[in-house]
Amino acid sequence: MLSIALLLAVAQGTQSFVVVPDSVVALTHVRVIDGTGAKEREGQTVVLRNGTIAAIGPDGTIPIPDGAAVHDLAGRTVLPGYVMLHEHLFYVAGNGAYPTHSVSFPMLYLAGGVTTMRTGGNMGGYTDFNIKTMIDAGRMPGPDIDVTAPYLNGPGLPIPGVKALRDVADATKMVEYWASEGATSFKAYMQITRAELAAAIKAAHARGLKVTGHLCSVTYREAADLGIDNLEHGFFASTDFVVDKQPDRCPGAQAGRSALTALDPKSQPIQELLQHLVQRGVAITSTLTVMETRVPGQPKAPAGALAAMLPEVRAQYERTWERVARGAVGRTREEYDRMTALEREFVRLGGLLVVGTDPTGYGGVVPGYANQRAIELLVDAGFSPLAAIQIATLNGATYLGRQGTIGSIAVGKDADLVVVEGNPAEQIHDIERVELVFKKGIGYDSSAMFRSVRGVVGWK
Ligand SMILES: [Zn+2]
Repeated sequence: MLSIALLLAVAQGTQSFVVVPDSVVALTHVRVIDGTGAKEREGQTVVLRNGTIAAIGPDGTIPIPDGAAVHDLAGRTVLPGYVMLHEHLFYVAGNGAYPTHSVSFPMLYLAGGVTTMRTGGNMGGYTDFNIKTMIDAGRMPGPDIDVTAPYLNGPGLPIPGVKALRDVADATKMVEYWASEGATSFKAYMQITRAELAAAIKAAHARGLKVTGHLCSVTYREAADLGIDNLEHGFFASTDFVVDKQPDRCPGAQAGRSALTALDPKSQPIQELLQHLVQRGVAITSTLTVMETRVPGQPKAPAGALAAMLPEVRAQYERTWERVARGAVGRTREEYDRMTALEREFVRLGGLLVVGTDPTGYGGVVPGYANQRAIELLVDAGFSPLAAIQIATLNGATYLGRQGTIGSIAVGKDADLVVVEGNPAEQIHDIERVELVFKKGIGYDSSAMFRSVRGVVGWK
């Protein structure tokens, strides 16, 4: 329960990060990456009015409205605010606890450029809904949140915060209850049965709501046939090719990955699965940020993310990272590369790839910093910078069914924008150089938000 004093402090905090409060704003001499995958456009003027994008065009062709706050952004690029689909409001430092991070995480997400996010599973019950309400009311800074209900999972998960479904009727009841409390998304987990998943999907779809899954007991093909809308973690959670897989039983995630890694992405069984997912309209969520933390040779979390951690949490993270770097724990480069190849192949066949960070694992995935890293990892995986940005913006909006109002820079859409120094179309790492994040036309100071939560991740 948040105290009145904390609420007031938070409210004052929101204001102190706003550096562009004006209702009419003109961004001039700026490079535009619009989120559709189209080539960047130089020398543009973008006019924002009352929270929406009112006009865009080459400098000099767009009249600057009287009274507009003009920001000369020469040398900068404006991108759509990120729409990230596997986020959390809890943090896992690899110690078995899942503390809610209602203070630092909303701030970090917005500071990193995320203006809309879906929580990919909820350990906080009502907390997540109340955080959304507070952000929407302007009482704390943060992205627009599509709140997922508590996980849908059967018995067998060693996490005390997750309910164990009793049966099919229980799955239906749970969806109906959380939908009535405001959940707009659902997530099935590793130990659900096909019948429970089918019931959950039916109940969610009856309300126009979508279901995703981080699966194991149910294969990707089975879930697609049951009508699931989205699958998490790329192909890392597929158990489709495990020999002797028992129906409704999780054979262990490693068994699934090993079986998949043994097959060529161009082989017939894999091509058939990918095509089946595409035909069924199942989106795939890439979460390479959490996956890379277990691969030797991948870099440590960036300096800003390390500084954001509580010192004890940082120390345990760095110890584990060093064990992974030595090859003492973790997964293989071959497995990681095979999984990223499958994400590319899925897109090549016409599938909708979306992205999220999943700030879990053993603590190295810190929101904000990780959202930028997620886009960089898509480029490392072989996507062009413009394609990676599209995956992180318009594709996410398209999945949410909100592509009419968010996800790209177009007249009439919400003024959700990220302003960075440099040109990420040429140098993707420039997305780390965020200056301003606009949410519905209000401009926030990214650095000030990042600074305000130094040393607290792992704590609050
Ligand atoms: Zn997750």
